[in-house]
Amino acid sequence: MRVLGIEGTAWAASAAVFETDSPARATDDEHVFVESDAYQPESGGIHPREAAEHMGEAIPEVVRTAIDHARERADAAGESGPPIDAVAFSRGPGLGPCLRIVGTAARAVAQRFDVPLVGVNHMVAHLEVGRHRSGFESPVCLNASGANAHLLGYRNGRYRVLGETMDTGVGNAIDKFTRHVGWQHPGGPKVERHAREGDFHPLPYVVKGMDFSFSGIMSAAKQAYDDDVPVADVCRGLEETIFAMLTEVSERALSLTGADELVLGGGVGQNDRLQRMLREMCEQRGADFFAPENRFLRDNAGMIAILGAKMYAAGDTLAIEESGIDSNFRPDDVAVSWRGPEES
Ligand code: ATP
Repeated sequence: MRVLGIEGTAWAASAAVFETDSPARATDDEHVFVESDAYQPESGGIHPREAAEHMGEAIPEVVRTAIDHARERADAAGESGPPIDAVAFSRGPGLGPCLRIVGTAARAVAQRFDVPLVGVNHMVAHLEVGRHRSGFESPVCLNASGANAHLLGYRNGRYRVLGETMDTGVGNAIDKFTRHVGWQHPGGPKVERHAREGDFHPLPYVVKGMDFSFSGIMSAAKQAYDDDVPVADVCRGLEETIFAMLTEVSERALSLTGADELVLGGGVGQNDRLQRMLREMCEQRGADFFAPENRFLRDNAGMIAILGAKMYAAGDTLAIEESGIDSNFRPDDVAVSWRGPEES
């Protein structure tokens, strides 16, 4: 089976080809090809209109490259017929103008090759790529991405949101601080670099039950910077505070669900300090921890193609006329077709 994935919820125009004989499980001979083109704002954060213009230019190019790759694989295997079996696309959540371009591209390719269309929830894809590559059965997932932050656990046919941000996404919060400092987007890697040189500067720690809030931390971090606290110290304080919050709620999610596996998803998950804190917490409670490679943590079409293949194998496809995008598509809106309801 060979599935084309298309991603473009915010900044990454990306297309991928996932080829496998066994979509349910990672195998040694499966193959993932990913071609991405990132939108880089000249100043400030992500501007939805500019991001959509980028998608309009970049999506056709990355899709063409991925299809050429699929065709080479099909030719090498001596296959006739279409080089792909299905087209999966990120249906949401994300920026509406970007999603519409991705949806249009996916529909056009599916019609061109006369193959089914699969509508993938971007947040569930962040989770499933970790589950797929780890081979974990039923992990809790911490999604620490730009526009989101939540813990997901599987129960009776759905991923349940066990805890989530009450205001901004975790990466967006970090990016707002770095914009204030005058650093170019994205801010996360710069905060990580500077934090290594800094001493911890205390910032508000806001966990309420299973939920967390980042807006007060951001205001306090901006204020500290304006009050001449060294920026490296603020960065260190940001990392330690935010990641301790995420680790605390992850531990509580493991405890509440009785799960003994944690996977990480999302672009902020590329941060070494966050990964170390989560790994140590898991070691202390005898749980397994897995973080996919960075190329599968940040937005990428590989995760869309991988989950798309599982959905396609389960017959979870979309008619063209029902394939509208959903910019507020929540992970708990997805009726999970590719895992049995008896799994918990
Ligand atoms: P979502 O997946 O919720 O739609 P998104 O589209 O913004 O979010 P992601 O690729 O998941 O995309 O995450 C991007 C975020 O990751 C940005 O906010 C960026 O600053 C942050 N980030 C990237 N690298 C690091 C890092 N090393 N440390 C912390 N944050 C990072």
